[in-house]
Amino acid sequence: MIHKVKALPRAVRAAMLRMWRFQATKIRERGRPRAARVHGRVMRISAYLSAVCVAAVSVGLIMNSMICYAIYVGGEPVGTVSSIAEAGAVIDRAQRRLTEILGYEYAYTTTVSVTPDLGVATSAPEALEDAVLLNVGDVELLYALEVNGEAVGAAEDRETLATLLRGIRDAYATDETVSSRFLEQVSISRRYIGAGVTRDISEIKASLAPGGEYALTVRCLERTTASVPLPFEIEYYDDGEVYIGEGGVVSEGRSGVALVTTERVLHNNTLVSENEIEQTVLTAPVPERVAVGVRERPPTASYGEYVLPADGKITSFFGFRRTTIGSSNHQGIDISGKLGQEIWASDGGEVIYAGSKYSGYGQIVQVLHDNGDVTYYAHCSKLLVSEGERVARGQTIALMGRTGVASGVHCHFEIRVDGVPVDPLKLLSL
Ligand SMILES: [Zn+2]
Repeated sequence: MIHKVKALPRAVRAAMLRMWRFQATKIRERGRPRAARVHGRVMRISAYLSAVCVAAVSVGLIMNSMICYAIYVGGEPVGTVSSIAEAGAVIDRAQRRLTEILGYEYAYTTTVSVTPDLGVATSAPEALEDAVLLNVGDVELLYALEVNGEAVGAAEDRETLATLLRGIRDAYATDETVSSRFLEQVSISRRYIGAGVTRDISEIKASLAPGGEYALTVRCLERTTASVPLPFEIEYYDDGEVYIGEGGVVSEGRSGVALVTTERVLHNNTLVSENEIEQTVLTAPVPERVAVGVRERPPTASYGEYVLPADGKITSFFGFRRTTIGSSNHQGIDISGKLGQEIWASDGGEVIYAGSKYSGYGQIVQVLHDNGDVTYYAHCSKLLVSEGERVARGQTIALMGRTGVASGVHCHFEIRVDGVPVDPLKLLSL
């Protein structure tokens, strides 16, 4: 409550009187010797009169400047202002600020009064407002930690709160973290705090933790650089030298290597976005070249693979064998059948011999294939092709018989690679 202003106290009047006497004594000491008495008296009178005037003005000034109004909070003076109106305004403003700070219609819980006093006003109204706030005891001037404008807690010093916030941010940092910040508006400021805001640091920490009332979200920006393989491309090209349906890898591709810098944004360790921001190629990839055959295949062209040249049972295999007429190293396979049965070309190619010049083989056809292999068809009863003729795979070239050295009707079939007989069964595609 505000007390009424009292009447001008007796002390003020006494002080004014002392000041007047002091001024009068000073004037008397300026008196002149007897020789100039008359003149001196006139001078003294005028001096006296002027002294009175000076004194009157001075006292007026002093009187004004010596009256002030002290504000008392709980019986203790907190400062002075020069007018009663100003004192009242200070107290009102302080009350409004307390209402704002505490969030409810504030009424002073301690006695706040104004008393006239001697002396000059010593306080700026703003400073006096603060003094009233601090002395009523319902608020404290502390460092407040605010999240999105709401006070979470308070501490005596800024560093306590700053350390707490740093700890929360650092918990999410890794070696790759470039920067981190809170998604929420977080601030520390010095302000008046009511008793409702906690000062307990572990309580503040709990409310900022995930799941807490003021849970904070730490946004971390991470940057990493790693070498990654660069896949090679496959280049297909039409090759006029290669038959349709054939072709393949002409030169193998090689992967390259690049240094890739990636930025990631995480919110409390949860990945939110990931972007490649830079790529430096250390080794360029080499494309793989694949030929695609576009050449029309002539029916007599070789495939490089072989089919059995006749229907029938294989009665003798490739390699060492014993027979009724002794042992030998068999250079092909024997396919038994009926006299006059068809024998066809095992693959396309050119007939390089058709006749019976070799002892033992009887009537034979030899076909040279495009890859240089030569196939033999022996013991034939009849030859249907002649030297220089091109034949297609499956084309009938002779009839089965038992000419030459043969114990029965069969086709002796050989494949020679670089002039050397190989096991035909290993080269058959069917
Ligand atoms: Zn044979």
